[in-house]
Amino acid sequence: MGSTPFTLNRQVALLTKHEKQSVIHPLLAAAFDTAILQTDAFDTDKLGTFDQRVPRVLSPVETALKKAYLACELTGQTQGLGSEGSFNGTIAGATLNQEVLAFVDTERDLQVIGFAQQYISLRAIEAQDEVALGEQMQPFIEQYADAQKWMLKQDGKWLKGLSFRELLASIKHWPCIIEPDFRAMYCIERQTTIEMACKDLIRCLSSHCPKCSAVNFVAKPSSEKAYLACEWCGSDTTKLKPVMPSCDECGFVEPEAQTSQTAPAMYCMQCNP
Ligand SMILES: [Zn+2]
Ligand SMILES: [Zn+2]
Repeated sequence: MGSTPFTLNRQVALLTKHEKQSVIHPLLAAAFDTAILQTDAFDTDKLGTFDQRVPRVLSPVETALKKAYLACELTGQTQGLGSEGSFNGTIAGATLNQEVLAFVDTERDLQVIGFAQQYISLRAIEAQDEVALGEQMQPFIEQYADAQKWMLKQDGKWLKGLSFRELLASIKHWPCIIEPDFRAMYCIERQTTIEMACKDLIRCLSSHCPKCSAVNFVAKPSSEKAYLACEWCGSDTTKLKPVMPSCDECGFVEPEAQTSQTAPAMYCMQCNP
């Protein structure tokens, strides 16, 4: 961190061809009086697509960071944003949508990650005929009308960005499998997850270290998990120790004094097996 305190520049670059600026810009502008300089001068699909049709080599965080650095490079800005989403089908047909929004400052050598996740109701649909398809699509049509677009595989190639009407007109063979088009501009549910990730990023960019005033003074998930000690016997319980905010620059960690260092014996395998 340089001697000048961190501020957001008047312009922050964002690499996207899926109109993510319409979600991110209003939030960022309200928080920091900054504007998004959007670029689509690089095809982000080359870094992999969520549907794995272009395989991903990097993790979502690495991909988002790469996009943020590319955004800086392509626009000549020193601050950039990159966004990456993933979708995993789970139990009961719900889909877990995770979104990473990475911020980089190339002058200060700073990386900050905003993260959000939520279950969304959209999922792939398999239908035997038009009636079955209509029945399964009905809740989504009622909820989103034409704001949600769909993808259809027909004759070995994917048709994308289809409204329900366009989808029906495109189906030549039954049964068929269709999938939600998760690209940000075609998916309102995903836009709300990106919005949450952006708010998380704003929280990180607004949290300053009390020692050196660097940003991103937040609790970061750590790979090694620590457990609270049992209040009676002192052995490890099944309750995780809270992760305290820490500084990337000077290493300062918020003292744990405010939080309890022990857990009730009911979480102890020795006292309450
Ligand atoms: Zn610090
Ligand atoms: Zn115990």
